[in-house]
Amino acid sequence: MTDYSGQSFPPSLEPEDWAHMRRLGHQMIDDMMDFLEGINDQPSWRPIPEEVKQKLNQDLPQLPTAAEEVYQEFKQYILPYPKGNIHPRFFSWIQGTGTAIGALSDMLASAMNPNVTIGEHAAMYVDQQVVNWCKQMLNYPASASGMLVSGGSMANITSLAVARNAFKDANIRKHGLKNTSHSLVLYCSTETHSCITKAAEIIGLGTDAVRFIPVNTRFEMDTRLLVQAVEEDRANGLTPFCVVGTAGTVNTGAIDPLEEILSICRENNLWFHVDGAYGALAKLDPRFEQELQAIESADSVAFDLHKWLHVPYEVGCLLVKNAQLHRDAFAITPSYLLQFDRGLAAGPDSINNYGFELSRGFKALKVWMMLKTYGIQWFAGLIAKDNTLASWLAQKIENHPNLKLAAPVKLSIVCFQYVNPRLNMEQTNSLNKEIVIRLQEKGIASPSSTILDGKFCIRTSIVNHKTTYADLDMMLEAILELGKEIV
Ligand SMILES: *Cc1c(COP(=O)(O)O)cnc(C)c1O
Repeated sequence: MTDYSGQSFPPSLEPEDWAHMRRLGHQMIDDMMDFLEGINDQPSWRPIPEEVKQKLNQDLPQLPTAAEEVYQEFKQYILPYPKGNIHPRFFSWIQGTGTAIGALSDMLASAMNPNVTIGEHAAMYVDQQVVNWCKQMLNYPASASGMLVSGGSMANITSLAVARNAFKDANIRKHGLKNTSHSLVLYCSTETHSCITKAAEIIGLGTDAVRFIPVNTRFEMDTRLLVQAVEEDRANGLTPFCVVGTAGTVNTGAIDPLEEILSICRENNLWFHVDGAYGALAKLDPRFEQELQAIESADSVAFDLHKWLHVPYEVGCLLVKNAQLHRDAFAITPSYLLQFDRGLAAGPDSINNYGFELSRGFKALKVWMMLKTYGIQWFAGLIAKDNTLASWLAQKIENHPNLKLAAPVKLSIVCFQYVNPRLNMEQTNSLNKEIVIRLQEKGIASPSSTILDGKFCIRTSIVNHKTTYADLDMMLEAILELGKEIV
């Protein structure tokens, strides 16, 4: 082993030969453009062979390997086994597709490698610019504050921490929850994303303080039951403080009655938070603008840019209407983070004053480049396209005797089953599970699954700028064939 502990030091991490590194870089870009250009003809997914998994489970490298060789390993063992979310027939979970320009911007951001928290440097202004564009996308007030974070989960927990700390008389930042006279209660629906549950656990409320309000047959929060729960909790001496409405649930794409929840919040002096991780951007589709308008009046909203804006992973955003309350929830200035009028430590207010993360990458750049390259109207058109594809798919399902919708289709998520009158519920469930897995294993398409009212569903979430009618047709045909074959 090379011993560097004494007087001899290793060279720096600079390339030994820049011309060499430049050539490797060009090769990488060529290969990645080939990869992106050719992905549509590849299977939607392929299983990872055991020997490849072994290659990815080795001891810590002690000594150098030539960068070319390391890159060859990447090409051999990593690149051929993608998740598939950049493939036109990827419909699992809710995942964005990414873009070539997004990938290139990530390279630029990494090369500059700023830590985007504090200071007078261009990245801080790009970050600020992107947050302001996020407000404009949703027609949210310009006076609001906001922050780019890793995604919807982080945006939601940050917003809920602001909502919690907004109880100023309780001074929760100092005393914690235990020593307040308030017993805070949070409301959301039974279809709310699990990150809200986790957030409630982490910010010290505990799940006992979360009321999961039942949904109607369209999987939307039943606001009558919400009002009842708030009144009951009040009568029992508890302190209702916040309602989370979902703009596009992860299961079915349902939109909670946001306008009604907003007025319930106003009447009861509750914080109105919208989890729009998936669906907030559907506000750009004229068909949903009205229904999502209440987002503009929400106290806070969380939404993802790596889903329907297709910015490469990872980036989400939270916006808070009252910038002062947002800052009050997180601001802290230790002596090593002082800001001045001039010099490197000038610049915009430290982003650390608006959330928990201190070190932050330059994720704003890929958003900035993508929004400039395409313009928001292009994205609006693609979001509308996905919603149209989903209604078209739903129509085809309704018209086929062997297919059955399991939930109404609101945005771009379609949950359905392959059915056969000879099968009981349990058999139908295992048949549909088998269909989903075989579709994936054969590399035809990658829907995911969920369980609705006890029914195992094929879940097709179309958040994919590449998907066309033909892709959905190909999946449907395969489902019908597989259904027949397995029965
Ligand atoms: C995706 C999603 C989340 C979680 O967002 P991440 O970006 O995965 O952290 C939360 N809520 C809803 C409704 C979502 O669709």
